[in-house]
Amino acid sequence: MITWLLKPGELAIKGENRKTFEFILKQNLLRMISAGGIKVKFKATAGRYYIEASDEEAEKIESILSRLIGISGWAKTAACKKNLEDITAACIEEGKKLSLKGIKTFKIEARRTDKSFPVTSYELCCKAGEAVLDTAGLKVDIHNPDDVIRIEIREKAYIYSGGRKGLNGLPVGSAGRGLLLLSGGIDSPVAGFLMATRGMSIDAIHFHAYPYTSLEAKQKVISLAKIAGSYCLGLRLYILNFKQVQMRIKERAETAWTTVLLRMAMMEAAEKAALKIKCKCIITGESLSQVASQTIENINCAESRIKMPVLRPLIGFNKESIILQAQRIGTYDISIQPYEDCCTLFSPKHPVLYGEAAEAAAIYESLEIEPLIDEALNNYELVKCDLS
Ligand code: ATP
Ligand code: MG
Repeated sequence: MITWLLKPGELAIKGENRKTFEFILKQNLLRMISAGGIKVKFKATAGRYYIEASDEEAEKIESILSRLIGISGWAKTAACKKNLEDITAACIEEGKKLSLKGIKTFKIEARRTDKSFPVTSYELCCKAGEAVLDTAGLKVDIHNPDDVIRIEIREKAYIYSGGRKGLNGLPVGSAGRGLLLLSGGIDSPVAGFLMATRGMSIDAIHFHAYPYTSLEAKQKVISLAKIAGSYCLGLRLYILNFKQVQMRIKERAETAWTTVLLRMAMMEAAEKAALKIKCKCIITGESLSQVASQTIENINCAESRIKMPVLRPLIGFNKESIILQAQRIGTYDISIQPYEDCCTLFSPKHPVLYGEAAEAAAIYESLEIEPLIDEALNNYELVKCDLS
């Protein structure tokens, strides 16, 4: 059996709401574990959670914890009785493990939540440190150790080293639901992930233009949605065929305006869908001036006909940091597969860069596009990306 010790993140400072946040975080963890078909023992104490599972489940548990939004870190831990002898022995074991990993220097950090424990944290560090020093062949380095052996005195004594950083943030399900405009690109999955780290549940909507876009392009978006869903307790992906809408724009509008108009239509469709499925906002992967449609003027045109808030978590990010995030969450390699998006399909050589909202609105109205949007909305395809 292995015991994992988990540290809930930012929740600790949320005052009144803390209980609700903690409740949601626990539920999320247990849902992810049960979706993975894993049997565990779970225990929550003030400020720490513990999971106990068999060694064979270790990989699955680690993978779940790396996707659990709301914890600041976790580690495999040894639990022992609260006496100096057992604690020192456990520290020596931990030291030996570190030494096997090739680690040369260490320090001990101790924390007594149980203040009735008769040895102070400082004494504990000294005694356990000495024992490790003598037996495990490691040297102490207080300022810059290769690793830290931690002792926590709680209901039991917990000893661990290494440990991994969690995703932090607020647990998914604590901040309403948003509808993510998910393209096959690099940005939008990251945008969804970032909002999930603020506690938002996510649904996604994708516009394609089959047969002008390929089935592979659609499949790619489904793969991205599945990864995004693995961080936010699953998501529903609504796929709409926007071919008629795009054709109408192409037929009736000046080429230079097509991108702005398509984005206006997407926003309108997204808002209508969001209202139906009880999403409170729209989320996009836009980043200021990244492409022609993302100048502040064109962004303004795109959202000028809808009322719902549009969240753009990447608006001030440069591409390099978006790519780093995409690599971190595992969407990058899929996003760079070369399948065409419905935006690029009809994209003009010389697009309007600084659209004026009133002019955009007038052209948009002349397209009589609303029935086509409604038709697309009535014929959606739903892909449920559940936890697995
Ligand atoms: P991305 O990497 O997210 O595709 P991008 O740089 O290609 O971004 P645009 O194509 O202008 O930028 O799209 C901006 C945002 O609009 C996307 O991040 C996404 O939220 C939304 N979007 C674009 N195309 C689609 C689509 N086909 N379906 C749904 N949303 C889309
Ligand atoms: Mg795109």
